Amino acid sequence: MEITARRLAAELPGQTIESVLTPGINALKTFDPPLSALDGAPFTDVRRRGKLLLLEAETASHGPLTLLVHLMSAGRLMLYDKRGSLRDKTSRVLIRLPEDRELRLREFGTRQRAWVKLLRAEEADGDDALQGLGPEAWPDPPAFGPLLAASRPLHTLLRDQRVIAGIGRTWVDEILHAAKLSPFKRGDDLSDAEVEALREAMVSELGRVLAVYEEQVQLPLPEKFPKPTRVHAHQGEPCPQCGTTLEAVFYEDYVMSYCPQDQTEGRVLKDRRLSRLLK
Ligand SMILES: [Zn+2]
Repeated sequence: MEITARRLAAELPGQTIESVLTPGINALKTFDPPLSALDGAPFTDVRRRGKLLLLEAETASHGPLTLLVHLMSAGRLMLYDKRGSLRDKTSRVLIRLPEDRELRLREFGTRQRAWVKLLRAEEADGDDALQGLGPEAWPDPPAFGPLLAASRPLHTLLRDQRVIAGIGRTWVDEILHAAKLSPFKRGDDLSDAEVEALREAMVSELGRVLAVYEEQVQLPLPEKFPKPTRVHAHQGEPCPQCGTTLEAVFYEDYVMSYCPQDQTEGRVLKDRRLSRLLK
């Protein structure tokens, strides 16, 4: 999201919205102000908060408005030089720009989960989706001690957007590996040194990923982003830190990868999928 926000923030401000269409069922979750309020309005800024994007525009009829966008896991925002067909089943929101260009929210896969809300700018920060968010994981997360003081495993705690905003399944594996912490260690069971290692790993890993994106991700923005992972989904391969074979725990719709040597004192954690089958 960060790189998407950066790229769009460099391109959209000053561009006039011609019209906005929402061919996707239920993609638009608000009705007041109406989408047509954006017609003719110039974009003023693009920001990110957690995993959400805020596209801001100055409208004639309603003043400053914010289009709040959540791509969920399968949505993508792309800036096209040509307008797409309305019959494209992946299209959820089409923002038409001058010279036939179009900012398009597409969603891949069968489920329609990506959504947008059109809000008055002064109300945007108070919206449910933003209000509950924890502090940003990057670039400068606050002290972790009180933040993580919960009896929950780190791999769920760090992905909880209300605890800390901006980390998904992929990067939590990279961060915990860099910090040499077990994904099942409890948040309230960390030493001061571990808390510090975790914070450092979060900043350095997210920084490493962003540096790759900064180099490789350009407009019109790709359908598939590079995934500069070293651990996540690399089970069966040697650990980049110590050479031990990486292991994984499989859940219904994702995988959690880790290094037994660096993170779990040599223990191979139970494969939940397997243990459920054996019950
Ligand atoms: Zn290792």
